[in-house]
Amino acid sequence: MIKFIPEPRLLESPRGRHWPRPPAPAQPPRDPVPPTTADVVIVGAGPAGLAVASALWHHGVTDLVVLDREGRSCGRFFDRIDRLDQRVLRSPYEHHPGVEGFRDCELLDFARLHWGRLTPVERREIRMAQAGHRSVVPVDVFHAYTDHLAVTHHVRDKLWGASVTGVRPDGDGVAVHTTRSTVRARHVVLCLGEERRTAPERWWGGGPPPAAVSYWDEPPPGPVERQIVVGAGLTAAHLLAAALDGGREVHWVLREAREHYQCADVNSTFFRPEGRKRFDGVGWSERLDLTAEFRRASVMFEFRPLLERAEAEGRLVVHRGEAVKEVSTGITGTAVVQLESGRRVDADHAVLALGTIPSIGTGLLPAGLVGARDGWPDLDEATLSYRQAPAVSVVGAAAGMVLGPAARNIDGHRVATTRVAAAVAARLRGAALDLRVTADV
Ligand SMILES: Cc1cc2nc3c(=O)[nH]c(=O)nc-3n(C[C@H](O)[C@H](O)[C@H](O)COP(=O)(O)OP(=O)(O)OC[C@H]3O[C@@H](n4cnc5c(N)ncnc54)[C@H](O)[C@@H]3O)c2cc1C
Repeated sequence: MIKFIPEPRLLESPRGRHWPRPPAPAQPPRDPVPPTTADVVIVGAGPAGLAVASALWHHGVTDLVVLDREGRSCGRFFDRIDRLDQRVLRSPYEHHPGVEGFRDCELLDFARLHWGRLTPVERREIRMAQAGHRSVVPVDVFHAYTDHLAVTHHVRDKLWGASVTGVRPDGDGVAVHTTRSTVRARHVVLCLGEERRTAPERWWGGGPPPAAVSYWDEPPPGPVERQIVVGAGLTAAHLLAAALDGGREVHWVLREAREHYQCADVNSTFFRPEGRKRFDGVGWSERLDLTAEFRRASVMFEFRPLLERAEAEGRLVVHRGEAVKEVSTGITGTAVVQLESGRRVDADHAVLALGTIPSIGTGLLPAGLVGARDGWPDLDEATLSYRQAPAVSVVGAAAGMVLGPAARNIDGHRVATTRVAAAVAARLRGAALDLRVTADV
């Protein structure tokens, strides 16, 4: 048996390299407000929204409006990655938002086209991917690839910065309300991603964190000598690595009895058809159980030597099997984390990495249409549209109870996109056909 040997140097890809961009077609100056009508509105331009828009382009659906709070393709995704100083993706080369089933450039092809820009370590990872092994993708390559997709599938021309406040299906289609205007669409795809999980109210009484405490996606603190990181996943690992790199004394609080190292955050079978089939073939409660069992907080193998060495050298103190009871600010302005065991850890700063929660459309669609159950929406399994609102569908984490734990990863967005883009294109064609029949009569 080949033993997998993690190499921390795989985590060190450079960030911010220059990549040649495909020339964007010249566009006439554009109205800052999106058009008032469109065949399809996509809410959210992250990897999922980009995948859907690119696939729809291949299906010939070009009357499209993409709305995103950040106003940039994959803006929140890369902001989060950069906040953690993350240099490589966790997902391998075959997981990407490019289009399946049409002639298109895949992430691996794209990386090979830019061979000369890559380090020897990065080139070796490409060879690993070509040989069918797990591979590590530099964030730079992925970023340039998403730009490439956005330009070549005309997604940039269709993207407007706007915060969507309401999605209201009616007899003729769907009204999408933003803080600036309303767009009427025949179909809407929600690609909302996930929001950070906030701390339980009992930790400090709810609301923003106490002084000297922040969440992982908030601006980092000023100079810190001693830092606490709470959480057991990859986000926590990136925070730990950055803190250790900055020469801090670090305390890692994790509720689990021990840290869990794994290639992906989902058991890899769920990225394959047989894994999805396993999820498909069972009832609701079994799906909940499978999700809980197989999508658990874990850290990429490459971190293991790095964190174990730091612990052995006393630079990292790991508080295993310790649940947090309370978080507060000490008299001297330090962060104080009180543990259920009675132990207390204090430091200049504590950062909380408690995971994320899928955005399922609650707050945008009327609650009755979302049909939320256990935090998941009520979706048609074939089309991923809301059963109570067939003109609105989802791609991304919200499809987790249909597609399985991998729905929350880039590969799951690809599977959802294939299904949704085909269904939306067919639906639009069907509607056009109906109109023609009516006109003939
Ligand atoms: C730090 C980090 C690293 C990750 N690395 C990987 C990885 O390597 N591989 C992997 O497979 N997965 C990874 N993930 C999981 C990852 O989040 C998803 O795979 C991917 O970002 C999800 O894409 P998305 O488009 O669904 O969501 P997002 O990237 O979050 O995009 C959703 C977009 O919708 C916008 N939006 C939401 N609500 C509204 C609204 N009401 N109005 C307007 N716009 C709105 C948001 O602002 C956002 O821009 C990572 C997650 C994090 C946090």
